[in-house]
Amino acid sequence: MNTAYASPWVDEEIAIFRDAVARFVEAEMVPNDEQWRKRQHVGKEIWRKAGAMGMLCTDIGAQYGGVGGDFRHEAVLYEETSRRGLSGFGQGVHSICAHYLENHGTEEQKHRFLPRMASGALIGAIGMSEPAAGSDLQGLRTRAVRDGDEYVINGSKIFITNGYLAGLVALVVKTQAGEGAKGTSIIMAETENLKGFRVGRILDKMGMKSQDTAELFFEDVRVPTTNLLGGAEGQGFYQLMGDLPYERALIAVAGVAAMEGGLAETIRYVKERRAFGKTIAEFQNTKFKLAELATKTHIARLFVDDIIAKIVAGTLDTVTASMAKYWVTDTQQEVLDECVQLHGGYGYMNEYLVCRLFADCRVQRIYGGTNEIMKELISRSL
Ligand SMILES: Cc1cc2nc3c(=O)[nH]c(=O)nc-3n(C[C@H](O)[C@H](O)[C@H](O)COP(=O)(O)OP(=O)(O)OC[C@H]3O[C@@H](n4cnc5c(N)ncnc54)[C@H](O)[C@@H]3O)c2cc1C
Repeated sequence: MNTAYASPWVDEEIAIFRDAVARFVEAEMVPNDEQWRKRQHVGKEIWRKAGAMGMLCTDIGAQYGGVGGDFRHEAVLYEETSRRGLSGFGQGVHSICAHYLENHGTEEQKHRFLPRMASGALIGAIGMSEPAAGSDLQGLRTRAVRDGDEYVINGSKIFITNGYLAGLVALVVKTQAGEGAKGTSIIMAETENLKGFRVGRILDKMGMKSQDTAELFFEDVRVPTTNLLGGAEGQGFYQLMGDLPYERALIAVAGVAAMEGGLAETIRYVKERRAFGKTIAEFQNTKFKLAELATKTHIARLFVDDIIAKIVAGTLDTVTASMAKYWVTDTQQEVLDECVQLHGGYGYMNEYLVCRLFADCRVQRIYGGTNEIMKELISRSL
């Protein structure tokens, strides 16, 4: 964290927006986080409140009920929650789901779903991963078979962020068996009163305790063909690929904000905590460690700021987004590990921010495409 540095994308309007978001997060989320962690979800009310404050779908066009801003507005909410260790509010996948609709949906689909997503009435999820298909989506088994003006869906999904609370799942299915990528489609499944649909367990995770990551089951579920994203079968892979840089950028934004939050808290802590007649901050080891952590965090911030500028300009490519996702999240884990170390035993206690940040950060290297897959993608461009 370099206090002399100001992100170039934060102009006066964004600074005012950030101030409003930070006040909302402090008032509505921070006091509830402990209860949310215990019950493993944030509940629907906070989504409606965030929607009413104009904090959802901030970069979706106003003609579809969005705020009509850009990626900087998305980044602000993600930063303000991530730096405080609030990992239960699955804004990222909600936004990605909305982007699938805005970028690939029919006009009718955009008008049907996006205004409710922006208001927080409809929470979005992405149903891609399955027990036998994570990194390798060719192994997808969930089938959607056309029957008149409906699809009949059978299969299951695992690790679905917002899975318990979501009212709309962008469901990745096979519409043509044996056709590989060409047989893959996305169906927007509205889950309320959906016969044959069942949410399984909210999964018990290492971190992100207030996030309702869940299993989803589909047994002869019937969804109208008008819910096929974009209206044409076989477009699923192409639609997914188009939004990957956006998803990876969001993960990197959350990563650097968590580093900044953890580092600020650690600096505060070591200046107060005493051992051997002085503060922890006075040991040369602490000074050098903090210098290293501040430098790594600053490099990550410069990288992420460049990514944010590129997204706003519409020039972020998959390779650069993959570099940011892998490098920032690897560095996030290194930095937060040292923050825990500088807290001693207290750093291992859940009531301390750095403990929660550290537990939450481990999955950053796994979801959104593992960091190994990121390196695979980067290496193909070399
Ligand atoms: C908390 C959480 C939230 C999630 N949210 C969602 C969600 O909202 N929606 C959703 O669809 N999914 C979600 N996921 C799933 C996530 O995207 C997958 O876990 C991830 O893509 C990895 O897939 P996998 O778990 O099947 O691991 P695997 O693909 O089985 O990978 C296992 C290991 O093998 C490595 N590996 C695989 N292939 C290669 C290769 N070609 N080269 C080198 N190494 C390789 C991987 O990097 C990894 O280290 C979430 C997961 C978690 C834990």
